[in-house]
Amino acid sequence: MVGEQRVRLSETDAMEMGIRCPSCGTYTSFGDILATGECRGAECTTGLKLELVTSE
Ligand SMILES: [Zn+2]
Repeated sequence: MVGEQRVRLSETDAMEMGIRCPSCGTYTSFGDILATGECRGAECTTGLKLELVTSE
């Protein structure tokens, strides 16, 4: 995968407190994403990061 891809989080992700990597499907918790910035998949090199978007 080249470049950045954005995934809008939903209520389902909030209930699971994590998200599946768009590249390999491995579940990674939000806490791990914030701490390590990468997917937990053993062979996956995809970086993951969270952003908060505000609106007025
Ligand atoms: Zn992955």
